Order: sequence, then structure tokens, then C-alpha cells
Amino acid sequence: MMVGGLYYQFGKVIDETNNEINKIEINRAKALSDKIILHIRNKITGDFSLLLQYKELREDISSFLSLNVTDEFKYIYVIYKDKKGAYRYLLDGSYGVDRGEFGQKFFPLLTNIWKTSLKTGHSMHGFQKKADGLWITYLHPIIIGKKVRAVLALDISTKEYQNLNNFLIPLYNFLRVFLSVLIIIVLVVMAQMYMFYKERKKSIIDPLTKLYNRNFLKEIWHKVNLKKISIMMLDIDYFKLVNDQYGHDVGDIVLSSVARKLMGETRLEDKVIRYGGEEFLIFLRWSKSDEEVMRIADRIRVSIASEKIRISESLSINVTASIGVSVNPSKNKTLKEAIQVADKMLYIAKNRGRNRVAYANLHNSK
Ligand code: GH3
Ligand code: MG
Ligand code: MG
Repeated sequence: MMVGGLYYQFGKVIDETNNEINKIEINRAKALSDKIILHIRNKITGDFSLLLQYKELREDISSFLSLNVTDEFKYIYVIYKDKKGAYRYLLDGSYGVDRGEFGQKFFPLLTNIWKTSLKTGHSMHGFQKKADGLWITYLHPIIIGKKVRAVLALDISTKEYQNLNNFLIPLYNFLRVFLSVLIIIVLVVMAQMYMFYKERKKSIIDPLTKLYNRNFLKEIWHKVNLKKISIMMLDIDYFKLVNDQYGHDVGDIVLSSVARKLMGETRLEDKVIRYGGEEFLIFLRWSKSDEEVMRIADRIRVSIASEKIRISESLSINVTASIGVSVNPSKNKTLKEAIQVADKMLYIAKNRGRNRVAYANLHNSK
């Protein structure tokens, strides 16, 4: 998250920085071109043809342009349209081989900004990506007598400012790679965790009843705090008869139906475990009083006994269950002993006639 945010902010900073640089450059170009146009106008006093006639005048203005040539404003020149409509150099302040002579044809492609500037008389700018960085061409039309006579062009190299990008962009790219790797790692870890939990769930959940199985009991065996639970052992009464009478499949439906009831009657913090075939072990989170535990146990018994389990249109089955409860298992030394007590109470409940609850380890009976 944090890296993602940083990456996003970084991208924004780079974009904003570049936009700011371009804005600054364009404003500087505008200021410089205004100064140059003013200088040209003063020299020719409104008569454009003077520029075409007098070499000295052209050389004078060209040297003024040269004075303004810097590493940043590398090319400063004026292009005019001759009578046949061809574009030619009028003035050029550039140095060396790059310098265009008067009358020399202007070869660079006339891009849209040139065409628009010549047609409308508006200043224009455009961007060009070259090997040595971003270039901005700024065009300022020279209008005399309401006609666009020529265009002053400034080619601006933003190389100096690009140094900032030379520092920022590698960092940005690093961040991008780092982020991608991080995402891949997170995805792989998540997939592994998913597989792990899926496998783990499979190993601790009974497929028929969707309750915990004995593997789960083994897992939590040493973590169970006897002071914080009550233990119930529940066994369906005469379940063998259900199988014998209606078949094993019907028996299965009864089992999962009873399991659902157990889940419904207990809370999330309670643990319901399929302990054996039709035997369930329940760890009830300790309720404040014995009465509360007794109420819950009897509620479970009644819930199983009172509602018929619907097998099909024509068949519904009634089953009951017996429950042995160790209300206060901390009276025993170990979980094993405490479970044995609940089991013993289950045996007693069965002997007393089934469909009932028997309690041991009540707080008020030593
Ligand atoms: P009691 O009231 O004494 O508990 O009698 P009971 O018939 O329920 O007791 P018993 O232990 O004799 O029978 C339990 C039966 O549960 C025997 C076994 O076939 C059946 N059983 C165990 N696991 C499954 C199961 O997954 N599906 C089905 N359909 N039956 C099962
Ligand atoms: Mg039984
Ligand atoms: Mg049994």
C-alpha cells in the first residue's frame, strides 16, 4: 500500500515537474521573443521590405539574435515566405554550421504549429523528443500591416532541467520494478496461504457433518483451558435402529441434520466436534452459572427431540439424544479425565432411559 502510494505520488511529481518546466520555458521564450520583435520593429520602423533590401540591417539584427543564443535558446531565427510561396531564412542568430543564410530554403517539415501560426498570426509552441532530450519550438509571427510577414522561431532545449528527471526517472523505474516484485510476492504468498488453509480445513473438518473432526481435537488438545469451558458428550439414541430400518443413507441425513441443530444451538466461540459415529463432543465457553449450562444442554436435547427430520415427501424421522455434561471440568486434572467424566454422565443418561441430560461437577456439589 505504502509503496503503491509512493509510486503514484512519484509519477505525479515527475509529470507535474515536467509540466512546470515546460510552462516556465514557454514563458521565458515568450518574454525573449517579445524583446526580439520589439528590437526588429525599432530597426525597420514598420517597413518590412527594408529587411529584404539591406544586408547590413540583417546582419545587425542577426547579431542581436546571436547575443541571445544560449545553451537553452540554442536556435533563434526568422523565416519568411517569398513571393513564390517558398519558406526561406531571413535572419539567423545561430552559430556555426547550423546557421541558415539569407534566402536559404527552410527545409524542416512545416508542422501544424508552423502552418497555424502563419495562418492565424498567433504564437504557437510544440514539443519534439530528440536524442538529447525534449525540445520546445516556440513561434512568434511578425505581423506588419495586419499581415504575417515572417515567423520568429526559438528552439529551446530543456536539457538543463532534464537533469532533474535523470535523477527522478531511474528512481521511479526502480519503484515500479520493486512494486511489481512486491505484488508478485504477495500474490504467491496469498496463493500458498489459500492452499494451506484449504488443505488444513480439509484435514480438520468432517465432510459429512461439516463439524470439526478428531484431528481438530488433537490440534487444540494442549490449548484447552479447563477453567473456561464446560464439556458435553452427546450421543444419538438407538441410532443403529435408524440405519437398520431406513438404510445408511438416511442415517447420514439424520447425522448431518443433528449436526446442523448443534451448530444452531451453540455460539461461535463454542466448539462442536464429531467425536465418533453418532457421538458429538461440545466445548461450551464457560457460562457464568451452572444453570446457564444446564439450560443450554436441555435446549439442545429438546431441539433434537422435538423436531422431526424430513427425509423425503413421505418420510420424516424422530430421533432423540442423550447428553452427559461435565459442568466444571477444572475439577479434573486433565482434558482426558474431563472428557471421561462427560462420557460417564452420558452413560448414566442412557441408563436412566435416554433423551435426557446428566450432570457432573456442579459448582455447588462437591
Ligand atoms: P444408543 O442409544 O445406546 O446410543 O444406541 P445406538 O444404536 O445409537 O448405539 P450404537 O453405538 O450401537 O450404534 C451407533 C451406530 O451408528 C452404529 C453405526 O453403524 C452408526 N454409524 C456410525 N457412523 C455412521 C455414519 O457415518 N453414517 C451412518 N449412517 N451411520 C453411522
Ligand atoms: Mg447412539
Ligand atoms: Mg454411540
